[in-house]
Amino acid sequence: TSVLSGSLPDENATLALGAAFAAAARPGLVVHLLGDLGAGKTTFTRGLLAALGHQGKVKSPTYTLVESYPFPDYSVHHFDLYRFADPEEWNDAGFSEYFGQDSLCLVEWPDKAEGLLPAADLTLELAVTGSGRTYHFQAQTQTGQSCLIRLST
Ligand code: ADP
Ligand code: MG
Repeated sequence: TSVLSGSLPDENATLALGAAFAAAARPGLVVHLLGDLGAGKTTFTRGLLAALGHQGKVKSPTYTLVESYPFPDYSVHHFDLYRFADPEEWNDAGFSEYFGQDSLCLVEWPDKAEGLLPAADLTLELAVTGSGRTYHFQAQTQTGQSCLIRLST
């Protein structure tokens, strides 16, 4: 299982996919979220965070670039690099330290920090189709593949 695709007829389906992914994910995983503005990347993240027990709101980290959510076993770091422009900011902000075996990182607009951002274990591409969305996971590493196997069974 190196790919997994399907359709998401409404917002709840995207939230449910995020929740299912929360159960399959493990700390250390790096997920790149691909797709246009409005494709559902943040919605997926909201579903994932809610399933892990997050009760507050989920802010889109458009200006802060990253929002962190500590859980008992590990932290989730949600990046939105749409406005990331200055490569020096990567080091200044200590972004490398967010990645490691004790965190799950979800990254919107990874292409904006190409060459700085750690490689993805998994990519999730979301696309608008009619009034709904489609999704396509692709594993890039063994770790990502293991996650997809758990997600699909
Ligand atoms: P992104 O982070 O990719 O820019 P968002 O997650 O902010 O996109 O979602 C944009 C809009 O799409 C939200 O209003 C959300 O409710 C809606 N949405 C999410 N998933 C679906 C879906 N499967 N079908 C229809 N609308 C959806
Ligand atoms: Mg977003």
